[in-house]
Amino acid sequence: MNRLAHWIDGKPWDGEATRYGDLHDPATGEVTGQVPLADAAEVDAAVAAARDAFATWSRTSLTGRTQVLFAFRELLAARRRELAAIITAEHGKVLSDALGEVNRGLEVVEFACGVPHLSKGDHSAGVSTDVDTYSLRQPLGPVAVISPFNFPAMVPLWFLPVAIATGNTVLLKPSEKDPSAAGWLAELWAEAGLPAGVLNVVHGDRRAADRLLEHPDVAAVSFVGSTPVARHVYETAARTGKRVQALGGAKNHMVVLPDADLDLAADAAVSAGFGSAGERCMAISVVVAVDPVGDDLVQRIAERTRGLRVGDGRRGADMGPLITAEHRDRVAGYLDAGEREGATVVVDGRTVAPDGAAGGFWLGPTVLDHVRPGMSVYTDEIFGPVLSVVRAGTYDEALALVNANPYGNGTAVFTTDGRAARHYQQEVQVGMVGVNVPIPVPMAYYSFGGWKASLFGDAHAYGADGIAFYTRGKVVTSRWPAPRDRGVDLGFPQNA
Ligand code: NAD
Repeated sequence: MNRLAHWIDGKPWDGEATRYGDLHDPATGEVTGQVPLADAAEVDAAVAAARDAFATWSRTSLTGRTQVLFAFRELLAARRRELAAIITAEHGKVLSDALGEVNRGLEVVEFACGVPHLSKGDHSAGVSTDVDTYSLRQPLGPVAVISPFNFPAMVPLWFLPVAIATGNTVLLKPSEKDPSAAGWLAELWAEAGLPAGVLNVVHGDRRAADRLLEHPDVAAVSFVGSTPVARHVYETAARTGKRVQALGGAKNHMVVLPDADLDLAADAAVSAGFGSAGERCMAISVVVAVDPVGDDLVQRIAERTRGLRVGDGRRGADMGPLITAEHRDRVAGYLDAGEREGATVVVDGRTVAPDGAAGGFWLGPTVLDHVRPGMSVYTDEIFGPVLSVVRAGTYDEALALVNANPYGNGTAVFTTDGRAARHYQQEVQVGMVGVNVPIPVPMAYYSFGGWKASLFGDAHAYGADGIAFYTRGKVVTSRWPAPRDRGVDLGFPQNA
């Protein structure tokens, strides 16, 4: 039995956990290992290691820090397939998709290699006679990263490189459903030369997360997960005086206008709807077909969906299993509810014949047509391979529908009309917009984040926001007066 250990102070540590969680291969249903679930004592030990390491790492030169970043980049690039295989074995997503996730994480490492430039301050000489003013950015301290199951490598890599490059130390609490990628990454950082204690991985469930949120030595929290938990994380961490960014769930709409290239739109809807079995925060879960394209578009989406091969991600399938049996059953329950509430089942994933072991957590891709706001398949984040099509009479109706949704993570518009696309990108209340692009995950030198119930806090992840989140600004005003300039003056300082 493979039993994972925490990674604390540069080495594996069993801790004193009395609780363990089972790990599964979702493509077979078999138990493959166990993960320790930390209690407060283990979390405290990890925080102590991060606090001690901060004293040295925060003073390590920019050159010293970037050398570790470059070494880590080389190692990860060389061994990315190894990590992709770990992801597929525990998450279930197909190998090519797992590799894509690693590559997107690698881009953030490459971005963070530019930290000497990215963290530069400003300097104004002579703001007053013989007075100069300049700004510094300094690290915060130990920071916590709490990540979800659906991107076990990419989401940690949204935060780790930027937090570490800017001189912080990190406590990563990965999802207990697929935690092996986090342990593998920690070992790779150590191999790259990262000093002990700068990155610590503490495994666990909500108990470990809550201890991190309340620990007085944790300076900031970066969280990614579902909206109810993101709200709890934001409120709890803010109450204890921490800086916090909490990215939540999503219900991403793709609007298809009557002048769109329908083949392009159908390709995009199927790719972004069923990639990673719909377990992506940037998955398209709702297609809004603006009259009169509905019937034609649904037919093209259905054709493509029927052609998808569902199976073990190691066997060249298009789509793998869901993360757990419970989640598979929950998603299937939505299909039953959708049917009862009046949606039309155009392609039924409940009848899929997968290329994989019988015990896998299978559910095929499903297309539901004539979905309406108010149905549970529309209101809830399903987080599975279910694409709902809503019909809208006009563009204005489609835009109003998207803006009425409580989530605001990502959206896309498909059209050949530049003016309509421009109007949409200006007016839509969503943080990330694609124009004829279905999954607009911004590049590493922009920032990732939604609006409304998809993000609690001010800072988005990585990019310029990431650098700002993990550093505090300081402004220095300095003067080197000559002895003759001395003298008491109680007047308010003014510039001259
Ligand atoms: P989740 O909210 O169940 O768990 C996320 C993390 O929080 C895990 O590490 C988990 O152990 C911990 N956690 C769970 N319950 C907790 C609690 N009550 N208190 C404190 N910590 C708790 O999410 P998940 O199921 O792992 O991931 C899927 C969700 O994440 C979806 O809603 C998806 O949209 C969202 N997500 C959002 C983004 C984004 O960028 N906005 C990206 C990826 C995933």
